[in-house]
Amino acid sequence: MTDSIYFAPLLPWQQTLWTQLTARVLTPQQSLPHALLAAGMQGMGKRAFVWRLVAWLLCRERENHPLGACGSCESCQWLKSGTHPSLQVLPAISKPISAASSESYEALKSTSKKTKADSKATATKAIDNAALTTKVDDIRALQPFIYQGGQGMRICVLDHAEQMTIAAANALLKTLEEPQAQVYLFLISDTPAKLLPTIKSRVQQLPLQIIAASTAQDYVTHALGSTINREVVSPTQIEQLLQLANGAPLTAIDLAQASWYSKRALWLTTWQALQQGKRSSVAASDYWQTQLGISDFIQLTEMMLLDIQRVSLGLASNQQDIDLVTAIQNYQPSDNALAALASNLQQTKIALQQNVQEKFAYDKLMQQLAQL
Ligand SMILES: [Zn+2]
Repeated sequence: MTDSIYFAPLLPWQQTLWTQLTARVLTPQQSLPHALLAAGMQGMGKRAFVWRLVAWLLCRERENHPLGACGSCESCQWLKSGTHPSLQVLPAISKPISAASSESYEALKSTSKKTKADSKATATKAIDNAALTTKVDDIRALQPFIYQGGQGMRICVLDHAEQMTIAAANALLKTLEEPQAQVYLFLISDTPAKLLPTIKSRVQQLPLQIIAASTAQDYVTHALGSTINREVVSPTQIEQLLQLANGAPLTAIDLAQASWYSKRALWLTTWQALQQGKRSSVAASDYWQTQLGISDFIQLTEMMLLDIQRVSLGLASNQQDIDLVTAIQNYQPSDNALAALASNLQQTKIALQQNVQEKFAYDKLMQQLAQL
């Protein structure tokens, strides 16, 4: 991430909300709620919206630039250098740019188990959960900033809010109960179901999850241009990407660009060869190690399992460009076998964070796939 997230173009499905919120700020006697929650699954652009709004709220020229922060005033310059005195971000790793955190973010990414084939998203996911957890001391350290009074707006952004410890959430609760003039708190969460109800009831949720199908389709089409991996993109393919991404446009774009997405048919061929005993799991493991990093292979396998499950339940496959129906005609994996493999994939992810050898993990997964 770079500072560009503060000044990026507004996502098309966020235009109405942007207009409403900014109008409230610019209208005398009106203001924003003191605590706002941007919640919902990844890939809908909620972080993009929050950072853009934060930049605009802090911008000295916002009255003349209602569509987004000016990018050149003192405040915007501070954001670019990661030293804005009126912005606090927890956990620190979530701050889009700062001299310290951007380096540590890059460092964490490069020390995560990254291979050439791994996508950026995978590397980011491998960041230790501990770095995403806000603790009670972090909230306490915010207090002077929140209660200092004085001139001008102050903003706190709490990302991955569901990962706060209980003690941190309780400390935050006190802050939420005593709103301070000119202080705004933004909570961000990919899994708001895990937030404490007491927190949720004290913040106003931003409606960022509603995207018209045609808007999503247009956006993904435009973003991907005319080809993916040198193949021409058809409207059907865009539709499939969006379906696999549960309608989240940014996830659909990541999916199209993931190195494993184009290897779905190959995965099916391998699985069938394993089933029919035409290939040993060791040979399959050796081959796939030349194709994909293990994290990507796990993502690919998870997607394939979900669809195999759908098809074996008699539902339509989410993937129209590969023939799952024929593939499982002669062989229906049991629910138990599918559940066991899904749980093994989870365990493998954890094991990989604890430095288990990639080859070892690959061999084991391939064996399990052969027994599916
Ligand atoms: Zn500005």
